[in-house]
Amino acid sequence: KTSPGQIALYNEAIQNAYLQKIHLRDKLKEAIKFQLLSVHYQPIIDSTTSKICKFEALVRWSDSELGAISPAQFIPIAEEFGLIHQIGQFVLEKSCKDLAKIHSQGHTHISISINRSVNEFKASNDQYKQIIHAIEENNLPYDALTIEVTESVAANQYTWQVLGELQKKGVQIALDDFCTGYSSLSHLLKSQVDFVKIDRSFIDTLIDDKKKQAMVKYLVELGDDIGTRLIAEGVEQEEQVSMLKQFGCHNVQGFFYSPAQPISVCLNMLKS
Ligand code: C2E
Ligand code: MG
Ligand code: MG
Ligand code: MG
Repeated sequence: KTSPGQIALYNEAIQNAYLQKIHLRDKLKEAIKFQLLSVHYQPIIDSTTSKICKFEALVRWSDSELGAISPAQFIPIAEEFGLIHQIGQFVLEKSCKDLAKIHSQGHTHISISINRSVNEFKASNDQYKQIIHAIEENNLPYDALTIEVTESVAANQYTWQVLGELQKKGVQIALDDFCTGYSSLSHLLKSQVDFVKIDRSFIDTLIDDKKKQAMVKYLVELGDDIGTRLIAEGVEQEEQVSMLKQFGCHNVQGFFYSPAQPISVCLNMLKS
């Protein structure tokens, strides 16, 4: 049985969490306004050549008072308070500009992947127009851009429609964080995605888990049959890399190769 004192403490905790959230929201608004967000890029490696074929754009925020704040923490806040669209637009424009820089240095086979929240796909946002505009403005081929969405899009018919239109134009679609939560193979059958990204939590325990190994082998085979490439996320150990390569997993991404880095560092990676 709870005493009045306990309830007061409980209420206080809720209130503190709420105030913290509001504080973060206000800081984030400021960061957007004063252009304090940046974008880093994590290399994605082609398993057959062991060379970089793609970069994933990941938004970064470092606050003078709070330090580096993870997107896992501030993206949900941005979504809740209607700030996600501005962040998404910034990441889209910056990524396309930086990819044009990469292409201008002769690395024209490189593509870029950006993350999109389901909340960004609203009729009023016109994602289609904005994405196509950013690509064309930077004279990029349409297939040099991949849009990553999590499986929650499956619940939203409108999002699939927009993604389908983008795909018709040549833009690539990736299903992010696959094999987490209530992921279902039916999402793969519903729409033709170009990439499936197996989540880090799945790769973490791959070496000791025969069932997961079987699953990866199966997904590679399925992917080969239906024209979907498999990307393993969060690869940290050499053993994971060699196992994934042995299974025919098309692409690998993770700290084993590199965390997300500023564009200048990425340009150097491509030179070596
Ligand atoms: P995600 O799209 O699944 O991105 C992969 C996350 O895993 C990134 O975290 C990346 O830094 C991390 N990661 C990659 N390899 C490794 C590894 O080997 N070990 C470990 N421990 N971690 C690894 P990050 O940058 O903190 O982003 C977290 C999530 O925030 C992303 O997950 C994505 O859902 C979201 N996010 C990031 N940038 C954006 C953005 O511009 N827009 C939207 N809507 N969401 C974003
Ligand atoms: Mg992603
Ligand atoms: Mg992911
Ligand atoms: Mg994730």
